Amino acid sequence: MLAGLILATLGGIFTHAITAWIAVAALVEVVLLLVHTRRQDVVIENSRFIPDARFERLRMRSRRLSRQLRDLRSAAGSLPDAAVLVDGEGRIRWFNQASEHLLGLRRAHDRGKLLTERLSETTLGTWLEGGASDTLNDVPAPNRPNLRLSMVMMPFGHHQRMMIGRDISDLMRLEQVRQDFVANVSHELRTPLTVIHGYLELLDPDDQPELGPVISEMRVQSERMGQIVEDLLMLSRLETLQPLQEEHVSMAPLLATLRREAMALSHGRHEVHLEERTETDLYGSIRELHSAFSNLVSNAVRYTPTHGSITLIWERIDQGARFTVRDTGHGIPANHITRLTERFYRVSSSRSRDSGGTGLGLSIVKHVLNRHQAELHIESEPGKGSAFSCAFGSARLLQPVQADA
Ligand code: ADP
Repeated sequence: MLAGLILATLGGIFTHAITAWIAVAALVEVVLLLVHTRRQDVVIENSRFIPDARFERLRMRSRRLSRQLRDLRSAAGSLPDAAVLVDGEGRIRWFNQASEHLLGLRRAHDRGKLLTERLSETTLGTWLEGGASDTLNDVPAPNRPNLRLSMVMMPFGHHQRMMIGRDISDLMRLEQVRQDFVANVSHELRTPLTVIHGYLELLDPDDQPELGPVISEMRVQSERMGQIVEDLLMLSRLETLQPLQEEHVSMAPLLATLRREAMALSHGRHEVHLEERTETDLYGSIRELHSAFSNLVSNAVRYTPTHGSITLIWERIDQGARFTVRDTGHGIPANHITRLTERFYRVSSSRSRDSGGTGLGLSIVKHVLNRHQAELHIESEPGKGSAFSCAFGSARLLQPVQADA
């Protein structure tokens, strides 16, 4: 009986326990469900809320972007420079108003056309066909030859390119006025100077010893003026962009002449060496190249104190050949080097004047080298010396002509 009672009690407890367990489990389930439902609510609520907010933000951003795009387009559209956007295949995607005026493009017809085809048979077309990698200056505008343009092509966005064309007609006109003025003044000065020089030569200081120093100073100065006029005329000729008188330039005799010139100018005050490390010749204007190299040689002699040494070197380099004039002279402080090829730029005016300089020598060198697609490199250390090098590309190199046996 007791056992039955105990069993019944235990069974009751057990049943209660099970019931309690079931209740707890159910409660936990409900709580979990509630929590889950709450979460679901939050998620649902949020999912309803977030898209709206995002949508609003996106809408505002898109409005802002289209406003900026409109502003950018109208700014680019009203630029005075022509701007043409081309895709990876070179087809015109967009162009501004100035392109119609400067390049002759037409809004209704030219979108989607190949830019090279659209500008074919013009200098611009040739430039585009050649890859348009360099700036093209002073080119006539298609259909308007009296307008002069400066063109540049640059990478833009993804596989696109932007061609910019600037009207430089006014600048070119001013440049022409400047060139004509310099050329005319130099030309007009030449004759009176020759006359003055001639009369000064006739004066004999021995006739009037008291005027001796005055006469020699006048001779020096009139010679200097004559040299300035000749240099200005040479620069004017180089600037008028007459086609180069190109020919085979034999370097061996030219180098020998330059060495003789250096020795004559030096009057034995310097050691002059020639290092001819290659037999390569050049293709170009012998007159202009001689003038450029002579200027470097004359500078080396004039800016190297007595007992210094001057070396002329002709050698092959990667992709070309180089003519160098190396001296052990005064040298040039680094801050002057980039400006040396400007007209009348001198590191020391008095030293240049005393040495008979005109301040135009290196400008002439630069122009001549430009006309031969060559570059001037200057290395210098004050007190130690300088090296002026003219680097020519391989397209300018020639094999020497073999003398017939
Ligand atoms: P300049 O007729 O005055 O020599 P250049 O145009 O030939 O004019 O040279 C410009 C200036 O560069 C010179 O005035 C001089 O100061 C400097 N220069 C040129 N070559 C040398 C050199 N070999 N050594 C030192 N200075 C030089």
